[in-house]
Amino acid sequence: MDIILYLLHIIQQLYQQNCFLFKFICKYIPLKQWAFDDSHSPKYQKFEIDELPRMDNFKQDWDWKDLLSYYKQRYGKEIKPIFRRVECDIPEACTCPACNAPVLYLSWNDGKKKSQIRCKVCQTHFSPTKDNRFSKTTKLRCPHCSHILVPKKDRKHFILHKCVNDKCPYYLHNLKKVDKKDLKEDYCKNKYKLHYIYREFQIDFFKMDLNTLPKNASSLKFRKFDANVMSLCLTLHINLGLSLRKTRQALNDLYNISISHQQIANYCKTAAICIKPFVDNYDYKPGTVQTADETYIKIRGVKAYLWFIMDAVSRSILGYQVSDNRGVVLASLL
Ligand SMILES: [Zn+2]
Ligand SMILES: [Zn+2]
Repeated sequence: MDIILYLLHIIQQLYQQNCFLFKFICKYIPLKQWAFDDSHSPKYQKFEIDELPRMDNFKQDWDWKDLLSYYKQRYGKEIKPIFRRVECDIPEACTCPACNAPVLYLSWNDGKKKSQIRCKVCQTHFSPTKDNRFSKTTKLRCPHCSHILVPKKDRKHFILHKCVNDKCPYYLHNLKKVDKKDLKEDYCKNKYKLHYIYREFQIDFFKMDLNTLPKNASSLKFRKFDANVMSLCLTLHINLGLSLRKTRQALNDLYNISISHQQIANYCKTAAICIKPFVDNYDYKPGTVQTADETYIKIRGVKAYLWFIMDAVSRSILGYQVSDNRGVVLASLL
């Protein structure tokens, strides 16, 4: 029995040594290719995806009743409604915006001025007007310095929020990487992306509006066929790679469904449009190394350029763009 314990002990020791050596290698011995790696250059900062902002949400899932029973259990104390000498003039409909406590637990916090109410249950102070700090349900904060993000640009599909704090560690860290020469020029900093940026997309992917669908795409309100037929069309045409006309024939021969090849094409288009936003905005958990490539495809006989940005490790396609010319700045479009 002793020998087993002894061996186990040795295994543990060896394992710890391994861990130590591994950490040492990671920290101090750069792999050969890293020596020539310029992907750490600040010029490529634009391609780096910032992490998500912190979100402050005032709407919590507990309310005053939960708090009352918590106090009772934890401290054996019961919070009683406020004892009033004079009649309460807080409107009856008023409740605590943080814990939803009724008027019984609310009192004026600033005496005769009557501009601030205090909640006896959760000790929150708030103004009785509707437009208080609780009326905004969420606030975006920089994950590095917790400053509130400022909406800077209102683009067609998204709002660009930026952390404008000059002491933000993220900004200072990026600033260190920039060439000293560049810093002296006017507007030179604009060449680089130094601040933390978050894009808030405003497209509601779940609201499919017929008006925004391109020509020939069908809506998902089925008249003649149903979702099953649509999925059969997609399976045969996309998964099995049959042509539109062969799909039509297969549906007719196998399932006795007579559908035109045009309708199949329309279904595919609709499916593509429904899926596109999910594919485009899916979080592929990109690594730090990404590769990009350009190629061209023919769409109805016309040459079009196609760009891809891929994660170097997982090979998932992080972004793509099709254009009829090569002059478009890819980075801005992606
Ligand atoms: Zn409250
Ligand atoms: Zn910041």
